[in-house]
Amino acid sequence: MIPDDTPTITPILFCDYHTHPQGHRVQDYTEALLQPWIDSARAKGIIDIAFTDHDRYHAGVDFDELDRLREKNPDVKVRAGIELDNDPKTSAAGRKWIEQNWERLDFVLGSVHYLSRVDQMFDSVPDGAQQFTGRDIDDVYSDYFRRVREMAASGLVDCLAHLDLVKIHGHRPRAPVTKLIEETLDLIRARNLALELSTAGWRKPVNELYPSDEIITLAIEKRIPFTIASDAHSWAQLGENYERLAKKMRAFGVREICMFEKHKRIAQRL
Ligand SMILES: [Zn+2]
Ligand SMILES: [Zn+2]
Repeated sequence: MIPDDTPTITPILFCDYHTHPQGHRVQDYTEALLQPWIDSARAKGIIDIAFTDHDRYHAGVDFDELDRLREKNPDVKVRAGIELDNDPKTSAAGRKWIEQNWERLDFVLGSVHYLSRVDQMFDSVPDGAQQFTGRDIDDVYSDYFRRVREMAASGLVDCLAHLDLVKIHGHRPRAPVTKLIEETLDLIRARNLALELSTAGWRKPVNELYPSDEIITLAIEKRIPFTIASDAHSWAQLGENYERLAKKMRAFGVREICMFEKHKRIAQRL
């Protein structure tokens, strides 16, 4: 049964806080690269968008180009962001770049893409699934969430992306992970960070929103704010499955999302 205070209208989702204009290589920020993203956003009713390319491609980010884009598109809020991960090879340089450009960045996502293998993101589909072969899945989960907590404690992120990415290939823990999740969410709360609701999980083998229903329930209890995102790697993917996400948020009674400006959180009621 839907509780009385659940909104009866499905919320309209008007922002996307995880996008990759550069895709998976360094591409300089230019009008030709970025304007199609703004056009696509506008066409989908998205009026607040954060560009969050991977920190290993930070060389492509151009803050002046983002300023020009803002001037040309006053109806769409454009946020300068980055997705910092735990790449053993590149993240030291990424962290340094974030520190140097902190004032010009609106938003930093924190992600864990690496487990014990240093040369492959475990979330590569399908090859990354090999990293789980022969391993105790419960150990993998606790290792993964330990790395998430490290990222949350880094002091360099505003929000955690795809919090349970470890499920991407469909591997499920054998024992309940509630304690692990609680510990991680308590840290996120203590650090006053946001948590991303990402539709990307629906296009991956696991075919499930990031994060799981259990995590959403606990995050609501702990009053952790949410961002919403598609993790689009092309402008066509912006806002992907947002109607489905909106229904889910309605079912959970999530009535507030947040945006960021110069790392300051802006809450918006839906
Ligand atoms: Zn990611
Ligand atoms: Zn991403």
